[in-house]
Amino acid sequence: MPLIVQKFGGTSVADSQKILAAARKAIRAQQQGNQVVMVVSAMGKNTDMLVDLAGQINDHPPAREIDMLLSTGEQVSVALMAMAIDSLGHKAVSLTGGQIGIKTDSSHTKARINSISTERIQRLLDEGNIVIAAGFQGIDEDLDITTLGRGGSDLTAVALAAVLGADTCEIYTDVDGVYTTDPRALPEARRVSKASYDEMLELASLGAGVLHSRSVEFAKKYGVPIHVRSSFSDTTGSFVVADPEVPDQPVGGAALTRNEARVTVKGIPDRPGTSYAVFSKIAEQNVAVDMIVQNIGEDGKADISFTVLSDDLPSTTGAVGSAIDELGAGQFEVGETVAKVSVVGMGMARQTGVANRMFRALADADVNILMITTSEIKISALVERDQALDALRAVHSAFELEKAPESTQSTGDTAMRVENSDALDVVTRLAGMEDLMIDEVALDDSQARITISQIPDEPGVAAKTFENIAEADIFVDMIIQSFGHGGRANLSFTVPRDELDRAAEVATSLAEQFGCGEVTSSPQVAKLSVSGVGLRSHVGVAIRMFKALADAAINVEMINTSEVRVNVVVDGAHGQRGLECLQTAFADVLLC
Ligand code: ASP
Ligand code: MG
Repeated sequence: MPLIVQKFGGTSVADSQKILAAARKAIRAQQQGNQVVMVVSAMGKNTDMLVDLAGQINDHPPAREIDMLLSTGEQVSVALMAMAIDSLGHKAVSLTGGQIGIKTDSSHTKARINSISTERIQRLLDEGNIVIAAGFQGIDEDLDITTLGRGGSDLTAVALAAVLGADTCEIYTDVDGVYTTDPRALPEARRVSKASYDEMLELASLGAGVLHSRSVEFAKKYGVPIHVRSSFSDTTGSFVVADPEVPDQPVGGAALTRNEARVTVKGIPDRPGTSYAVFSKIAEQNVAVDMIVQNIGEDGKADISFTVLSDDLPSTTGAVGSAIDELGAGQFEVGETVAKVSVVGMGMARQTGVANRMFRALADADVNILMITTSEIKISALVERDQALDALRAVHSAFELEKAPESTQSTGDTAMRVENSDALDVVTRLAGMEDLMIDEVALDDSQARITISQIPDEPGVAAKTFENIAEADIFVDMIIQSFGHGGRANLSFTVPRDELDRAAEVATSLAEQFGCGEVTSSPQVAKLSVSGVGLRSHVGVAIRMFKALADAAINVEMINTSEVRVNVVVDGAHGQRGLECLQTAFADVLLC
């Protein structure tokens, strides 16, 4: 019999009427011939209220007791939901995380799931019950109650869907799907019929942050199809699955992160270990670094810029200061009012002429690009915060994201489980379900690098550059523009090696036209990348990479990062050795 997991968030169970409405949805699904597991969050703002209450009593409540407290919110909801179903004449049993056997580690308030037992749920389902599971909670080895982190009910739902081999995992929420950008920011945002796991991960904020990113990582890892839909209507929402809405679409979504701050570290020695020195210090402060951009250094000095959330700026600058002291050279400066605009698309990895369209849109909106970084499926530009919304609007319309694609395939078949792996197989893979998983450590030594130094730091330069490159039909892979100084910035990009001469010609004529500095190039660069699931929630992948390369005395020349990938460029002569040392460094988490 098909099995459906239905998750109802706080707004969907905010009062008794809503609880009854959710109960009816579950009953209907059961009547249509499905076994139904419901995962329920705390009612309305109940969790916030409990957090607040704890704060009134203790400035630093012990984490174990926070979990004890917060888990009660979900316990209220599951009991009421079971009563609702009973009142409608159907069989239901509510279960806490502990009763299900959701075993986690002991990191209270941010626990990770280690294993889930399915026997009891399966038995109850087979007896004709709707099983109602408390979201967001688990139990550790000592039987202490743990919680999975705010918003963690999504994760409970996807994890249960994975271990039970569910056919689909429905997430009922107050928005009716995934949008091309946050509809609260841009009213012209369009609901998509489906989005890919990778797009959702790369743009964590796609569709108003509708899914917890750890749940998407989990869904990708176990091939769980997610259906995001409204709890207040019966319309089909958006599917989050392996494939995007339109195969080969260059851009499927755009997003804005408004509250970023930039830190630029300059004048540090361009030698092995400097990136590691800086970022390991920041990690010690538990700060997650977002964009990291390191461009080709000049005069033996490296220039690294990165962004963190504005709130993390004070602890970040403290860490950077101490790294500089240790290195005995360098200085840093910050930009406090920046924002990041990104576009994501599964097709851009195979097409020319995507980056230039984004840069042209920004130039035409008179937005200056402060930094650029790319991944295989994402391009991000850092801009001044007061231009952020204009920038997002310009980019959204340049890629015509508001228009429905001409032919979207029917989503009917995509609602089905992709690999339909039987539950047993999944259960055997349960050890450390949420562990970091690296799916690839790769070397690409087929590319060459071009750097245009001293480009004018003003709107339109990046647009013109990549328009000319696209006109010459040259495929660009990595693009890195580091933060400029004195009105000038350095722009590097990589192209297939046999296109180097043609690309260099284009770059040289542009440099003349714009009055830039030197154009330099390297015919032999090695791009080393580490990609996988969990990079976003496991800080430290980049650091592990920098450390391994530093230990092997390999200098990192360029860095760009995204949510699912860290790319570094090293001298081509060290590519193979770099690959081997990264394979060793990630051996314990590499999925072969
Ligand atoms: N009730 C928890 C929270 O508010 C878990 C959830 O809603 O997903 O964070
Ligand atoms: Mg929630």
